Amino acid sequence: MIDPQKTAANLAHIREQIASAALRSGRPAGAVTLVAVTKSVGVGEIAALLAAGCRDIGESRPQDLWQKHAALTPADPPVRWHLVGHLQRNKVRRTLPMVEWIHSADSARLLNEIESESEKLNLAPKVLLEVNVSGDATKHGFRPDEVLPLLPTLAGLVRVQVRGLMTMASLEGGPSAARRDFAALRELRDLAAPLCPPNVSLHELSMGMSGDFEIAIEEGATMVRIGSALFA
Ligand SMILES: *Cc1c(COP(=O)(O)O)cnc(C)c1O
Repeated sequence: MIDPQKTAANLAHIREQIASAALRSGRPAGAVTLVAVTKSVGVGEIAALLAAGCRDIGESRPQDLWQKHAALTPADPPVRWHLVGHLQRNKVRRTLPMVEWIHSADSARLLNEIESESEKLNLAPKVLLEVNVSGDATKHGFRPDEVLPLLPTLAGLVRVQVRGLMTMASLEGGPSAARRDFAALRELRDLAAPLCPPNVSLHELSMGMSGDFEIAIEEGATMVRIGSALFA
């Protein structure tokens, strides 16, 4: 059952939590973007989020993003779509025209595929490099020690706009492990940023989900990806 008022109330509550956590990290609330991850819900809930003023919608599977993107109409408010999960290279062409952000660039081959398809489609997608800081074998992403060697090769990207780093906290270890992982991503960013070619920025840190977004913001997140807490 879709309950738009419940969704709006959850959104308002989460926005307050984001604002408080941002203040604790010495930043205004507007420094953190809430990406509503809608993988567990349907288009009705997306409509409720849009009605409540949320414009950044994330999906983890490309096929789900295609389907929900197609289900919205020009009468709906404009959505900034974020792909937050793994993108197979054979799905790049179809996904690119729909998305503003890809949080999950996890290989040089994928970056090159996004670059060449963006050239054909005349697009300039904003992309984050996913980093597997926790080392979980089940997670996608560059190893932390792969990021610095990658940077010079990013100088050749004309279409792809690399804007930051993304991670998911360790599945185990609770809040203290999550804080350690988020701090590690920020420290990697601080180390790498001065070494980036001029076309690359690492300003954005996409980290934090329903269970740990306040910790992520305290550790410097500029984008949080929140699903279940919005629909509880
Ligand atoms: C599902 C998902 C989220 C949101 O997770 P919740 O715990 O439901 O908030 C965030 N990021 C990614 C990559 C996801 O797949």
